[in-house]
Amino acid sequence: MIQIAQKKDCCGCEACVQACPKKCISLSYDHEGFGYPYVEKDKCVECGLCERVCPVANYVEPDSLQKCYVIQNKDPNVVRESASGGGFSIFADYVLQHNGVVFGAAYTDSLEVEHTYIESSSELSKLRCSKYVQSRIGNTYAKVKEFLDEGRLVCFAGTPCQVYGLWMYLKKPNNPNLILVDFACHGVPSPKVWKKYLAWLQSKNDSNLKSYRFRDKKFGYQYTTFSAKYEDGTDYVISDCNNDRDFMKDSFFRDVVSRPSCYNCKFKSVKHVSDVTLFDCWHNEELTGTTDYSDGATTIILHTQRATELIDEIKVRAKCTEADLDKAVELDGVCLIYSKLPFAQRKEYFEDLDTLTVEEMNKKYFVKSGNNPIKECIKAFLRKVGLFDWLRNKIAKRRMKNMS
Ligand SMILES: Cc1cc2nc3c(=O)[nH]c(=O)nc-3n(C[C@H](O)[C@H](O)[C@H](O)COP(=O)(O)OP(=O)(O)OC[C@H]3O[C@@H](n4cnc5c(N)ncnc54)[C@H](O)[C@@H]3O)c2cc1C
Ligand code: SF4
Ligand code: SF4
Ligand code: SF4
Repeated sequence: MIQIAQKKDCCGCEACVQACPKKCISLSYDHEGFGYPYVEKDKCVECGLCERVCPVANYVEPDSLQKCYVIQNKDPNVVRESASGGGFSIFADYVLQHNGVVFGAAYTDSLEVEHTYIESSSELSKLRCSKYVQSRIGNTYAKVKEFLDEGRLVCFAGTPCQVYGLWMYLKKPNNPNLILVDFACHGVPSPKVWKKYLAWLQSKNDSNLKSYRFRDKKFGYQYTTFSAKYEDGTDYVISDCNNDRDFMKDSFFRDVVSRPSCYNCKFKSVKHVSDVTLFDCWHNEELTGTTDYSDGATTIILHTQRATELIDEIKVRAKCTEADLDKAVELDGVCLIYSKLPFAQRKEYFEDLDTLTVEEMNKKYFVKSGNNPIKECIKAFLRKVGLFDWLRNKIAKRRMKNMS
């Protein structure tokens, strides 16, 4: 039966939970708010299925075709609603227009994040845009299987580890009806931190919190802007454009609150088991030689023959320019290759989470802002002399040890 020696060895994909024929695995949540499998031992028949589907324990770098494009959805409203260029919606729309089903991460009524599925284009906005919180997978892998068994076309989008988890659950399928989409993944923040932040947002206003966007394009694509809307029409907006500080934004971008597996991510590679990998194309001008993509662009890496066939069919829905893969990864996709370093005070942060207020947490952990120029010079020097990766790995190992 599945046993997790260290928390970094479980990405929380829930493949084991769904695969267990005895339904004796459930998720148990730790003080950081992340779920780990808990087995009711008296019901377990030692079949070993849970171990065989685990994407972390069984990860093997896949072979992959790797063609690279910069794309932007032709519908400006879709680009506005999406994190980057609305690349995901292009594939999703194709599937929905062929009587298919699309799975992705959506908000619940109480703004928690979970995977769900849709069967019509009018529901697609639910799945659009990044939610910087670990999404609960629930029974979606089993639902994917059900739809595939019925002969339906299915698109599943998620983090690389969720997609690998599904791929293992489905026993490494080679099914032309299944389109797997993942993205360059920075890491997934704790749902408990998100809940604390939501309660704080709610406390700021008598009116109910209605919606939240992690990637609002109010000030343009180049700025990171988070926005919350209340039922009375008021909103709360914070943006890099105004150098605003915010508990959720700082907790995410300073790599404080990702799941332990994200600091030692097994899925870091330009090669994926998915058909398509998406990521932000900040350097769209440099990669395409035009300014056509400045409202938001998605870089896509196609990994399979199926995906290259698909791109020909969906080009009518998108502006699309072939790009140099190495350059695209170097400019915008470094997080495809490297895990983030854990925040030095991560352990202390989570110890304080239950007792300090959001304001007190901000004051204690995020009072300093911006990059330290001396630190940046040292980093550049270390990169030049080839010592950066070596030192980074040493620091990462030490911080991982302190975390557990
Ligand atoms: C937690 C997280 C970290 C990311 N880190 C990076 C990064 O470091 N660098 C980078 O270039 N890009 C990163 N991305 C991807 C990027 O933000 C865009 O999602 C990507 O560029 C595709 O954008 P799009 O406009 O094509 O489609 P969008 O409509 O924005 O795509 C949204 C897709 O992402 C899925 N999704 C949203 N939130 C989650 C979630 N919490 N868990 C699983 N799936 C989710 C949705 O289901 C949908 O399929 C990250 C995304 C997430 C969710
Ligand atoms: S060994 Fe089989 S029965 Fe036991 S927990 Fe794993 S999947 Fe379930
Ligand atoms: S990584 Fe996924 S399959 Fe493996 S133990 Fe964790 S939840 Fe289960
Ligand atoms: S960083 Fe790696 S382990 Fe973490 S959510 Fe992303 S793919 Fe999964």
